[in-house]
Amino acid sequence: MKLLVTGCAGFIGANFTKFVLKNYPNDFVVGVDALTYAANLDALKELNSEERFLFYKADICDETAMNKIIDAERPRVVVNFAAESHVDNSILNPESFIRTNVLGTQVLLNASYRYGVSRFHQVSTDEVYGDVPLESEHIFDECSVLKPSSPYSASKAAADLIALSYMRTYGLSVSVSRSTNNYGMYQHGEKLIPTVIKKAISGIPIPIYGDGKNMRDWLFVEDNCAAIDLIIRKGACEIYNIGSGNLISNCDLIDRILGCLDIPSARKEFVKDRLGHDMKYAVDCKKIRELGWKAEADFESGLKTTVEWYKTKYCSRI
Ligand code: NAD
Repeated sequence: MKLLVTGCAGFIGANFTKFVLKNYPNDFVVGVDALTYAANLDALKELNSEERFLFYKADICDETAMNKIIDAERPRVVVNFAAESHVDNSILNPESFIRTNVLGTQVLLNASYRYGVSRFHQVSTDEVYGDVPLESEHIFDECSVLKPSSPYSASKAAADLIALSYMRTYGLSVSVSRSTNNYGMYQHGEKLIPTVIKKAISGIPIPIYGDGKNMRDWLFVEDNCAAIDLIIRKGACEIYNIGSGNLISNCDLIDRILGCLDIPSARKEFVKDRLGHDMKYAVDCKKIRELGWKAEADFESGLKTTVEWYKTKYCSRI
């Protein structure tokens, strides 16, 4: 099978590209990435001599480029990871989020429809449902109302709806995955886990938004890759939530990371809260489990492996 993977030089896109090439010896991946500040070609270095991987540097908002690539390559499946992905940046600069996440997705959908792509998979987030209070037991299933809080999550919600409209209106086969926070190798240094590791190793105080009680469900990136892969190959043209049930507060997460680093006394600094900061995300993942998926990574060892990986990377630079 030939897949076109956008955002292939980003955190999850790179892990997914390698996951497919490792697990399916007959598959071919066409990678597309605009190589924004968030891209990391190091993550794809091991594919330099891989004959089943072809890379295009291109912007998903560029209609001419997307038509040309999809016409030339004729992928069976398009998996759209390409996005502006950092909530803090969306608060400072919403425009680039609307451009890439909304307009870019629509350009890709058009090209996928025009050239007969068999499945378009939109990679989305649990953040589209909005948050719940810390004490709430409520969880969102795939039919829950969308109530995004940030320009980032609103742009992802818009993209989901546009993708699903292409199924109803034009008959394009579309699936959507909404995962919780991912962690693992090759995540950009701006995100929480790499930031904490880097600051702790450098002896710099670790910033924590608000009171640090906000809760997130952490999913090992390879588990997300396996879930997306399963949806594409065996899932229906529907929405699937993906989460691991590792729900912990930001403060507890930081303590666990410091424990892995053996620097329990690192200084934490409570800083002004993020505007509109979501308290807790909570998704019901029964549907993806019924499809045959479960999170394989144990949080403790997954986090340990991740911390070790960043430690090696950062220590070699300090
Ligand atoms: P990332 O920021 O690490 O990578 C995004 C990649 O997209 C980068 O390589 C960047 O160069 C590329 N890109 C950005 N704009 C582009 C454009 N206009 N054209 C082509 N390429 C472009 O993001 P990530 O963490 O790997 O997230 C991937 C997807 O998963 C995103 O859609 C995100 O919304 C979603 N998601 C991420 C998480 C998470 O915890 N990281 C959780 C849920 C959902």
